[in-house]
Amino acid sequence: MRECINGRAVPSLSSVGATETIPIPSQSPRPVGPPAFREVLRSFATGVTVVTSGGAGAPCGVTANAFASVSLEPPLVLVCLNARSSSAATIARNGAFAVNVLAAGQEWLSRRFASPMRPRGHAMFRDVPHHTGTTGAALLDPAVAWLECRLHEIHAGGDHLIVIGEVLSCGADQSREPLVFHAGRYRGVTDTCAEFRLSG
Ligand SMILES: Cc1cc2nc3c(=O)[nH]c(=O)nc-3n(C[C@H](O)[C@H](O)[C@H](O)COP(=O)(O)OP(=O)(O)OC[C@H]3O[C@@H](n4cnc5c(N)ncnc54)[C@H](O)[C@@H]3O)c2cc1C
Repeated sequence: MRECINGRAVPSLSSVGATETIPIPSQSPRPVGPPAFREVLRSFATGVTVVTSGGAGAPCGVTANAFASVSLEPPLVLVCLNARSSSAATIARNGAFAVNVLAAGQEWLSRRFASPMRPRGHAMFRDVPHHTGTTGAALLDPAVAWLECRLHEIHAGGDHLIVIGEVLSCGADQSREPLVFHAGRYRGVTDTCAEFRLSG
């Protein structure tokens, strides 16, 4: 039995092995407020991306760590942006965006594109080494990886929008270390697990 989401057939829960729904109390014993929720999410280490979009109108760029792969065939990725984000509105207008994965040492780019005080339009990219990709979005130079996407779908997700893109082209520079964000701090990658395996 297949269900339909946005006109596309998707496997039903039962076809992927789900038998019955676990009963969830209608009243959660302790409501999860934003501070407690944020505190828990801080423990999840992520990379840092700058999501850009350009085209006929003014270009935009926004720092986002809510980035993930969605599907291999077709190649889909997602980024979650605040529903009040002007960048999300620009992406929706342009129908395309790019994801730039930041490298260690590029905290300044993360801070620049996270600041609500940053200049808007072309001025946002002044002093930021970049070139323009095929979709019109800025591709930062250098980056650990980049993905150029055609807008696939936008879903509402609470107070955020789930922006899904079909990857048209992408590339990575394996020689660069990624920038890591964890517990509200920027960090680098240290391969302690590999060291542990080697010595243990
Ligand atoms: C490491 C890191 C990771 C981040 N990851 C994410 C992420 O995954 N997703 C994400 O959405 N943000 C993320 N942010 C925050 C984001 O980069 C900043 O909030 C940025 O300024 C948003 O830019 P924008 O163009 O999306 O929104 P802007 O249009 O610049 O607006 C900035 C913010 O102001 C508020 N705002 C705008 N308009 C209104 C209004 N009319 N009324 C009330 N408030 C309003 C909104 O909260 C909005 O997000 C991250 C920041 C950092 C440092």
